[in-house]
Amino acid sequence: MRSPIIAGNWKMNKTVDEAVEFVDQIKNDLPDPKVQETILAAPTIALVPMVKATAGTPLKITAENCYYKDAGAYTGETSPTSLYSAGVHHVILGHSERRQLFNETDELINLKVHAALDAGLCPIVCCDDTMGRRVAGKKVHWVVSRILADLKDLKPENVNKVVIAYEPSWAIGTGESMDPAEAEEGCYLIRQTIADMYGEETADQMRILYGGSVNTQNVNKLMASQDIDGILAGGASLDPVTFLKLVNH
Ligand code: PGA
Repeated sequence: MRSPIIAGNWKMNKTVDEAVEFVDQIKNDLPDPKVQETILAAPTIALVPMVKATAGTPLKITAENCYYKDAGAYTGETSPTSLYSAGVHHVILGHSERRQLFNETDELINLKVHAALDAGLCPIVCCDDTMGRRVAGKKVHWVVSRILADLKDLKPENVNKVVIAYEPSWAIGTGESMDPAEAEEGCYLIRQTIADMYGEETADQMRILYGGSVNTQNVNKLMASQDIDGILAGGASLDPVTFLKLVNH
């Protein structure tokens, strides 16, 4: 049984004070993490105060990016080891905003995935699905080549620490979510790709989330799909009441 995940991604929003106030408001209303995990990704500067504010609660504080080196002359970057030692659990890697605005390639994302796992972090690897790159009628999605490249050569014992987020970029921040049946199809295809790469058993255990304009109206339908194990919400994670509604959907 794959335990579901409700994850929020604040992106470059909220000051440190706002971040701490938010987690103080929600931290006592979260489900048992054995039943459902609750994850919140926040700007780097807010991570340490958020970890402190939520110690002993089920909320898992998550980074939105990291570099692939542990230390050195990489001005402005954050090392996976420093995140892990600060009590951060997960790191989002390969978000379509990082691919589009910061020119991150599959090669770089694969290096980051390896480094994050070596440091003890669980990567949430985002995989977009550009409509234009589909081969019409053949159900061949762009996601397959993304997964093959981003999750290349992982140590077998590490694969199930990875969470995948299927996020069609046209659905991100547009208010136009993907139809749940189509989202299921994308997540199923990702699971098949993982099965080809790392075997059926690993694929069965892999948690795959859907992201892209998730809200309190569509969360239940999305979560009811067999291959969708959770959601990654951007806009809908910014308000504590709305985020709690997603968590306790
Ligand atoms: P959205 O963002 O929910 O605002 O569409 C999702 C994401 O970028 O992960």
